Amino acid sequence: MKSEPQQFASDNYAGICPEAWAATEAANGGSVPAYGEDAWTKRASDAFRDLFDKPDAEVFFAFNGTAANSLALASLCQSYHSVICSASAHVETDECGAPEFFSNGSKLLVAASPDGKLTPALIRGLATGRSDIHFPKPRVVTITQPTETGQLYTLDEIRAVSAGCRDLGLRLHMDGARFANACASLGCEPAEMTWKAGVDLLCFGGTKNGMAAGEAILFFDPALAEDFGYRCKQAGQLASKMRFLTAPWVGMLEGGAWIRNAAHANACARRLAGAVAECPGFTAMFPVEANAVFLKASPERLDALRDRGWRFYTFIGGGARFMFAWDSEPERIDALVRDIRAVSSAVPDRLSASG
Ligand SMILES: *Cc1c(COP(=O)(O)O)cnc(C)c1O
Repeated sequence: MKSEPQQFASDNYAGICPEAWAATEAANGGSVPAYGEDAWTKRASDAFRDLFDKPDAEVFFAFNGTAANSLALASLCQSYHSVICSASAHVETDECGAPEFFSNGSKLLVAASPDGKLTPALIRGLATGRSDIHFPKPRVVTITQPTETGQLYTLDEIRAVSAGCRDLGLRLHMDGARFANACASLGCEPAEMTWKAGVDLLCFGGTKNGMAAGEAILFFDPALAEDFGYRCKQAGQLASKMRFLTAPWVGMLEGGAWIRNAAHANACARRLAGAVAECPGFTAMFPVEANAVFLKASPERLDALRDRGWRFYTFIGGGARFMFAWDSEPERIDALVRDIRAVSSAVPDRLSASG
């Protein structure tokens, strides 16, 4: 089937990268034990332990990020607990209540944060605002790295958040649906950004990094992983043919495709952002620090871009979101740039006052 011209509406429009594909093909030979008792799953788990320089980390695999986040948070909470997150966090806006569902009712406490990032002060405000029996007891903080709008917590910011959590007796979870993009952008070791900075639990995204499906859940404190396997099974997240969820990770991690893919995607975002920085009528809504570019423009200009065949979402703040992946083609980005420039000069700036 002939594919359509490449779009940048989402980083999960991309297919499977060659390394994940080759590993899947290699895993397809013969019969091996089911439910994760196979050599591929052991190798993938060990590859994570190596990558994070954490031999005692416990590693689990889920089909998608909603399940990974929800089960990870549920594992840290009783039903009467609460989870502190930013108002724009995926767990709050895009998981259909799954964190509350899988935790049997733990409430999300949402911090309004202009850039989607939590700070120790925001966390403290929510964690100490109520301490009476009538309000769910704060138990976990979740941060998204990079955020839903493509911003990064610096290592110092993560350390400050985790120190704040420790003071308040809170655990720290990281939604790393685009964790690889954060590592590539900050140029730091995975360990530095996680357990060495005080993160207890990480969901590491594979799908947006170039796999067909799959997210890994890493417990840096093995004690927290007790019985987590049962939780995954009960939630329908234990793959019987587990090797097809784990072999792609071997392909991604062992040869470094995970970080190459992310670096490419980040570079593509910078390419677009740099090229349209001076375009009248289009303004960057957020600093471009990972693989996302958000452009604010009038509805007329956005319609004109759609008329030229471009697809994008506007669900965050009304601007056009462009996301880049391992397979993003520089020539297609340049075509998008040409169209943005054309629309910029051809469509009148009627709504310039509204930005
Ligand atoms: C994509 C994404 C997820 C995972 O979403 P699924 O569709 O459930 O795989 C989680 N968190 C963030 C920030 C995401 O962007």
